Formats: sequence, C-alpha cells, structure tokens
Amino acid sequence: MSELVYRRVLLKLSGEALMGDEDYGIDPKILGRIATEVIEARAAGAEIALVIGGGNIFRGAGLAAGGMDRVTGDQMGMLATVINALAMQDALEKLGAKCRVMSAIKINDVCEDYIRRRAVRHLEKGRICIFAAGVGSPFFTTDSGAALRAIEIGADLLLKATKVDGIYDKDPNKHSDAVRFDDLTYDEVLQRNLQVMDTAAFALARDSALPMRVFDMYQPGVISRILNGEPVGTLVHA
Ligand code: UDP
Repeated sequence: MSELVYRRVLLKLSGEALMGDEDYGIDPKILGRIATEVIEARAAGAEIALVIGGGNIFRGAGLAAGGMDRVTGDQMGMLATVINALAMQDALEKLGAKCRVMSAIKINDVCEDYIRRRAVRHLEKGRICIFAAGVGSPFFTTDSGAALRAIEIGADLLLKATKVDGIYDKDPNKHSDAVRFDDLTYDEVLQRNLQVMDTAAFALARDSALPMRVFDMYQPGVISRILNGEPVGTLVHA
C-alpha cells in the first residue's frame, strides 16, 4: 500500500462517460466496468472520491437554449448528477464496495448532505464517496464541483477522465498531426489557450495548485497505473 504515489484522489467522470454507445442515460455495462476500476484502485490502498457529471441526462445550458429558465435547467442538471451518483453507488455496492453519495443540494431522503468533515471520515474508513450536485449552485459545472471538492478534501490528485488520452495541441479527432503533451503547467495551458475544463473550474484548480491528470478512462487498469505513478495521459501542475 505504501508504494502508491497518490494516497487520496478525486476522479471526475462526465455524465456522457456512463452512456456507452447509447445517446442518453446510463449503460449498466459501462457502469460496472468503471466501478470495477474504482474498486481495484481502492483495494490497492487509495482513498477515492468521485464526481460524476449529468450531461447524459440534462445540462442547464442546453435546456435554456430550448427556452427553459436557466436556473431551473441547472437545477435539473444538478438532479441529473444525483441520479448518476445513485446509479454508480449501486454498481459499486453490487461489487462489494462501501460507498456514500453526498449531495451539495439537500435531498437527504436519498443520500447524505455534503459535509466536508464527514466526507473525509468516510474516506479514512475506506468508503468511496460520490459527491453529487456539483457545487450546489446554478451557473457552475461539475468540473467546478470536482476541483472544489478535491481541494476541500485535500486530494493529492484530480483525475479527469476524458474520451481522449490526454491534452493535445489541437483536436486529435480532426488533425492527424496533433501532438499530445506529457505535462503542462497551468500557465502553459492558458498561454496555449487549451480547453481543459471551464474557466471557473480551471481558475479554482490553478489558484490552489491542484495537480490534475487528464486521461482516457477506457484503458483497463488505468486508475491503478496512475496511482502507481505511471505517466498516463497529461499531467497539469503549478
Ligand atoms: N450544474 C449546476 N451547478 C453545478 C454543477 C452542475 O448547475 O455546480 C448543472 C448544470 O446545468 C450542468 C449540469 O448540472 O450542465 C450537469 O453537469 P455538467 O454539465 O458538469 O455534466 P458533464 O458535462 O460533466 O456530464
């Protein structure tokens, strides 16, 4: 256990990561696969917290574009993240893990309220925490929620799972000569105008010098490899 380079980490997954090949909602096979990865990393001795987005169900900005009040849309988006968190909790528990969903908005018939000290205690006891509802306010994203919670719980690393295996100088899906960075400082990300996460989330992570690794979730064993110090994807640091 002591060989792990990172002791406490926060994994950010987008809601779309749960969709698999579907256009909407949750693919149970994908959920099971991600849960297995998380449990494997937990078994290696790391304390793990998760933040899952809601984009597979609702995003406030998308609903507002269709004419809905933005705040109501964002509240629906936050509830979508609670749905995803409950689904992941179920998948983790089915595989024998201990897990707690903690929400930034009060919905405590279905999960706990987020209380930092309680979250840290859960992690110390080996439970996997899923922080739902982002920061609990409209006009934010779950990237902000992930950066905020990672800083609050004293995570050694923010793991940002994406569809591509790191940060490139240009979109690798459009340009065959795109080059992947092994590591970047926060200042270099800004200078190069690279899109890593939204501005509010980026500012929070940068101001707190939170190290972040951007990687492709769909490589088997990838979380454990990162925890063991393998340079998978791109590291962003102060
Ligand atoms: N959301 C919000 N405040 C937060 C986090 C999320 O209002 O602190 C809403 C917002 O509408 C957002 C939606 O929840 O679009 C889903 O979150 P996000 O877009 O971050 O999900 P992802 O893109 O990671 O799937």
